[in-house]
Amino acid sequence: MTTIKLHNTKTRKREDFVPIDSDNVRMYVCGPTVYDRAHLGNARPVIVFDVLYRLLRHVYGPDHVTYVRNFTDVDDKINARAAESGRSIGEITAETTQWFLDDMAAVGALEPDHMPRATAYIPQMIEMIEGLIAKGHAYAAEGHVLFAVESYKEYGALSGRSIDDMIAGARVEVAPYKRNPMDFVLWKPSDGDTPGWDSPWGRGRPGWHIECSAMSYELLGAHFDIHGGGNDLMFPHHENEIAQSCCAHPGAGFANYWLHNEMLQVEGKKMSKSLGNFFTVRDLLDHGVPGEVIRYVMLSTHYRKPMDWTEKKADEAKRKLKSWYDLVKGVEASKASRIIIDNLAEDLNTAFTLRQLDQLAGDIVHNDKFDGQFEAGVPNAPQMARSSSELRSEFKASLQLLGLIGDEVPSWSEETAFDLSRFQRSLEAARSVAMQTKDFSGVDQIKNMLIGAGVQVQMSKEGVEVIAGPNFDPTKLEALE
Ligand code: AMP
Ligand code: ZN
Repeated sequence: MTTIKLHNTKTRKREDFVPIDSDNVRMYVCGPTVYDRAHLGNARPVIVFDVLYRLLRHVYGPDHVTYVRNFTDVDDKINARAAESGRSIGEITAETTQWFLDDMAAVGALEPDHMPRATAYIPQMIEMIEGLIAKGHAYAAEGHVLFAVESYKEYGALSGRSIDDMIAGARVEVAPYKRNPMDFVLWKPSDGDTPGWDSPWGRGRPGWHIECSAMSYELLGAHFDIHGGGNDLMFPHHENEIAQSCCAHPGAGFANYWLHNEMLQVEGKKMSKSLGNFFTVRDLLDHGVPGEVIRYVMLSTHYRKPMDWTEKKADEAKRKLKSWYDLVKGVEASKASRIIIDNLAEDLNTAFTLRQLDQLAGDIVHNDKFDGQFEAGVPNAPQMARSSSELRSEFKASLQLLGLIGDEVPSWSEETAFDLSRFQRSLEAARSVAMQTKDFSGVDQIKNMLIGAGVQVQMSKEGVEVIAGPNFDPTKLEALE
């Protein structure tokens, strides 16, 4: 059996992955807060952990992996969105949840086995909070319940911080009901307009961190294998999850392996609305960037390195994928290549895996050439060790393992580029006539039509060049046909 190696944030080492129970490998990944479209950065953990999920299913069997990713559907950002838009919270979270599922399906992510919504687990959170109070790890104060960080001596171990450093670094105003400035909220009071549930501490709502502790316990148990998320969540969110879960279930261990993806940037800069480089996955899909291209670009950088989204990378990915899809059209998939599995098993080395796939594609083209010669009886043509059709089937299965193709090649890859050559010829012909007659009105007419259809026209002494621009609309050329 393949040994998967993973970099564990907890130990800061690359370790052999040994599941607690190989019949049920269990993974929890922190999911989105549902109040808006997922931005491109949000897709990174989804794609990274989808590749890990696919690899685990490949190694342990599809029925022997349980993947949980939550939806945070109670949060002050959601309340604010409801207040400013005049819409109900339920309407906003239901709509945004569906958007998220649609957009992540478009980038080839499988749905996790469980996608719990926080609001469906309030009683379990209350029960966990009561247990923490009973064990002396939490206290109620002014309608709030707070986790007492000093009651857990390992607090800060995941992110490598000490409580004293954290206090020194914190410049936030400390609420008067906190015993220690680092104590964090497990439960908080809700006023009449804010969503709330009855609890032993009055009507209120949970803090963010407790939901992941309660839902992972309900769905995966007190001890499970992998916990993942973006590295912006390491502190305080994951640190707090560990404190809550380890104190609620002493000795159980919580998650064995912690994985964190690095952040995504755009054209070398942090993605932000003020820089005008903020976009959602849907924006890209609507602008003709296929989901497979988004996925390829994400996988071309190792998940523990910062990644830069650039238009150039997207263009290259599109060309590369198209050439790969041309090789597997109508091909039946067999088993993924050993090389591909082994590379993914090295802490998800997707960047190198893509290069290996390109090598396999090159092998197929090379093989095709000699297969054809051998079959045609060309003297001295070598007989290849493996047939091209075998290689194609293995290549397709490898693409499937990475989630870069389903059963069929995507339809965008089969669209042939619109042939503009006849318009180029008409323009050239009109120009030679105009050179004689000195009447360029015919040339201008054709040229303006082309420009109106989004074609870029360049005329120089050397000749005429026409290329489809980004807003090219072939239907507008019908008048010229
Ligand atoms: P949020 O909805 O902000 O809690 O984020 C949901 C997930 O997206 C978390 O796992 C974050 O770590 C991740 N995430 C947010 N921004 C980025 C980014 N720029 N690059 C990569 N991951 C991100
Ligand atoms: Zn979480």
